[in-house]
Amino acid sequence: MVFQPQLKILISRDEIAKAVDRLACEIKKDYQGKQPLFIGVLKGSFVFMADLTRQLDLPLELDFVRLSSYGAAKESSGKVRVVQGIKMPVKGRDVLVVEDIVDTGITISFLLDYLKKKQPTSLKLCALTDKPPRHRAPISIDYLGFTVPDKFIVGYGLDFDERFRNLPDIYLIED
Ligand code: 5GP
Ligand code: MG
Repeated sequence: MVFQPQLKILISRDEIAKAVDRLACEIKKDYQGKQPLFIGVLKGSFVFMADLTRQLDLPLELDFVRLSSYGAAKESSGKVRVVQGIKMPVKGRDVLVVEDIVDTGITISFLLDYLKKKQPTSLKLCALTDKPPRHRAPISIDYLGFTVPDKFIVGYGLDFDERFRNLPDIYLIED
């Protein structure tokens, strides 16, 4: 039988679309006249990246990194590994990292350090969601969609054990 947990809607597709518009406006203003490189974190950011970049008429380029830490668990293992690195040169670029969610911040801190070593001209972070009480280190998010409760969320790219990434809205998984 297919596993079917209880899902409770947290953020509707309309609210997401409004937030994406708002973020696109802020980003467009800040990157006017630039040719930014957007770096998405796979797999969770794929839907957000697709919607965000289609709202931007900037001469942007994009690439993805694949990191691993979670596996099938709901909690970070605390260890991050680059599974697939950046193929495009980062040196001298205005880089914007696009993430689905900042939880403990371990993943994003690791990625920002990894990218900093490649000497971008600027390095900023855009996250769709954030769970501030869970941060284990100071993280500054330049462009943020939503602050979410300390619960496990799925949909709009976010998975639970690889499922639910295709849901157009964001849901809480009820225990
Ligand atoms: P962090 O390293 O900040 O603890 O975790 C970041 C990664 O953990 C995210 O990119 C995401 O893959 C996963 N993650 C953290 N919280 C959630 C959540 O509530 N739902 C889902 N689907 N993934 C989460
Ligand atoms: Mg992620």
